[in-house]
Amino acid sequence: MEFETVIGLEVHAQMKTKSKIFCGCSTEFGAPPNTHTCPVCLGMPGSLPVLNKQVVENGIKLALSTDSAINRENRFARKNYFYPDLPKGYQISQFELPIAEHGRLEIEVNGQKKTIGITRAHMEEDAGKLIHDELEPKSYVDLNRTGTPLLEIVSEPDLRSPEEAVAYLKKLHGIVRYLDICDGNMQVGSFRCDANISLRPKGQEEFGTRTELKNMNSFRNVQLALEYEERRQRDILLDGGSVTQATLLWNPDANRTEAMRGKEEAHDYRYFPDPDLVPVQIDEEWIERVRGELPELAGERQQRFMNELGLPEDVAAILTASRDLADYFEQVCAEYTNPKKVSNFICTELLREFSPEQVSECRMPPKHIAKLLMMEEK
Ligand code: ADP
Ligand code: MG
Ligand code: ZN
Repeated sequence: MEFETVIGLEVHAQMKTKSKIFCGCSTEFGAPPNTHTCPVCLGMPGSLPVLNKQVVENGIKLALSTDSAINRENRFARKNYFYPDLPKGYQISQFELPIAEHGRLEIEVNGQKKTIGITRAHMEEDAGKLIHDELEPKSYVDLNRTGTPLLEIVSEPDLRSPEEAVAYLKKLHGIVRYLDICDGNMQVGSFRCDANISLRPKGQEEFGTRTELKNMNSFRNVQLALEYEERRQRDILLDGGSVTQATLLWNPDANRTEAMRGKEEAHDYRYFPDPDLVPVQIDEEWIERVRGELPELAGERQQRFMNELGLPEDVAAILTASRDLADYFEQVCAEYTNPKKVSNFICTELLREFSPEQVSECRMPPKHIAKLLMMEEK
């Protein structure tokens, strides 16, 4: 029996803003615990949230870059649940009226182009962090992250393999980096993803029962976890069993998924519009201003490298794989105007040592590369 894999991703991108989403506290990472807090993000009675305009603007940028429809009126809702890292007892999120809906993203896997639907993107606040002591039976709560702005981007269940899921994730990562609305650091969780996966017999219309893999923080872990889960579900189905809907965690050391919690049929978050926040109104003027300020995205930049610098398509694609790499390339070209030679050097020498995402760590500045190439020519 042959099965088809169905995957949908929920991505959380932490917004690169100076202050939190509803108060003036700093979003800086790594400060001593509970030093970036105030009555608002601590959820004190009587305190009131005030929306950070930059977060809305980032949402508009993302919507414009993913062909999403922007809801001219959208609003915040309370998502109620109890957890020690959530002092208010609810998370301020968006529910029935998110900032963006009906978007899409084009991916390419093995030379095949494919469009993946984006269901919605909404603004919300992050929760705090629990730190579990390994020696003493104690847990600590750090509320510095509480109220950090997030964009949650939910895909349609259009992905058909772990490779497609990773391609989608890399594409989205590239967009938030190019827009510079998220630092994209997966290790510290600034860009993380939950993956929903199910299998169905080939030809069947109806989706199978899914499991959800929580909070994966590297492209490699997403790939490995989905491959594992694909195999696990296939074995169950071939055995005549049925998959149990569950929330799972990927354990990278043991190379397997582990149960986190069984999943109830439907959530009972008792969402309702947050009475402390007025609906967000976005007018055409605002959208057009943001559109005018959008930076050049990877695809446009690739086209420009091809048309203006005469680079072949594959080379232009490599050079625009990350914004940092494309910037680096252009900075070398600014000092040494021989795009072909510069691209050769970067694609062979530089990319042997650094991945496109790591180029900013290279301690050799672009102008030194330019000088080196000039010396070589002489
Ligand atoms: P929840 O809030 O419970 O996580 P959603 O309906 O918002 O549920 O779906 C979350 C994600 O799961 C979406 O990305 C969606 O595309 C994906 N998804 C939904 N059903 C399936 C399925 N049967 N198999 C794989 N992915 C699915
Ligand atoms: Mg989910
Ligand atoms: Zn605060």
